[in-house]
Amino acid sequence: MDKRWPFFTVDLELTNICEQNCSFCPREKITRPSGFIDMQLLADILRQLAAMGSRVTFCGMGNPMLHPQWHEISDICHNSGLKYGLTIQAPALDAQNIARISMLAPSFIEISFPTIDSGHFSQIYPGQDIELCLRALDDLVSMRGSARGISVIAVRTADEPVSAEATSVFWQNRGLSLRQQQCHSRGSNLTKNVVTRRRAIEACGLFATHSFITWQGRLLACCHDLNGASEIADLNQVLLTEAAQTKIEILQHGMPWPLCSKCDEPAATRPLPDRAYPETAKAQSRYLKRLCASD
Ligand code: SF4
Repeated sequence: MDKRWPFFTVDLELTNICEQNCSFCPREKITRPSGFIDMQLLADILRQLAAMGSRVTFCGMGNPMLHPQWHEISDICHNSGLKYGLTIQAPALDAQNIARISMLAPSFIEISFPTIDSGHFSQIYPGQDIELCLRALDDLVSMRGSARGISVIAVRTADEPVSAEATSVFWQNRGLSLRQQQCHSRGSNLTKNVVTRRRAIEACGLFATHSFITWQGRLLACCHDLNGASEIADLNQVLLTEAAQTKIEILQHGMPWPLCSKCDEPAATRPLPDRAYPETAKAQSRYLKRLCASD
C-alpha cells in the first residue's frame, strides 16, 4: 500500500478549545489537555503533508479560528503549497471570523449547518438564531465572490423535523453544495441525538485514507478518541512516513482499540484503497467524492 494513502486527507486540530455548546458534541468528555498548536510544529507537519500531497482540513474538537496566531497560521498555509480548508459550526461565522477566513484564503470551507428548522437549530445551538447564521453565510459567499469551495454539512439528529429531500432543495436554491450525514455517537461518547448503530470494525476504511492529528502533534486513530488512548505516533518525534507505515501495519492486523469494537462512524465502512494512488489533483478529487458517496 502506498504510504501516502493514510494521509490522503487529514484533519488537523489547531486547537481543541471551543466557546460553543453544541448538543451533538461530546466536548465534556475530552480528557486530552487543552491548548493551541505551536507554529513550528504546524510548519513541520504541513511541510511533510505537502510532500505527500495531502488535503488538509483544520477542524477537530475545537474552533480553529480561536487560535491567537492567525496571521502566522495564514502565512504558513500560503507558503505550504497544500490544498487546505476548514470546518466551522454555523454560529461561529461572525464578521470577525469571516475576515479571518478571508486572510487564510482556504480553497474549501465546510459549514456545519445541521438543520434548516429554526426551532431545532436553536436546540442544537442553544440561544442561536438561524436567520442570523443564514445571513452570515450570505456574507461569507459575498466575501469570497461566489459559493465556489463553500459547502454545507448537515448532521441529521434523531429528532430532525425536516426531510432530507426538503433540506436538499433548500440548499440547492441557495446555490450551496450539501452533504447530509447521520448523527453518530462519535466513539460512544454521545448518547442522545444518535441515529446510527454500533458494530465492530476490523479494517477501518476511514483510517486507511484519513488521519487525525491533535494540536499537540499526536496522531490518533481518529477524532472520536477524546482521551488520546489510541495514539499511533508523536509527530514531534516521528516522521509522517514512519507514522504512515505504522498505520498500514495496524490495518493489516485489525483495529486494536476498544473504540473500534463499537464504532458507528458511517465512514468506517468505506472501501479500502483498491488502486494506485491518484497522482493528479483531479484524480484525487474524483476519488474523494467516491469515498464520501459511500458513507
Ligand atoms: S473504526 Fe471507528 S473508532 Fe476506529 S478508527 Fe475507524 S472511525 Fe475511528
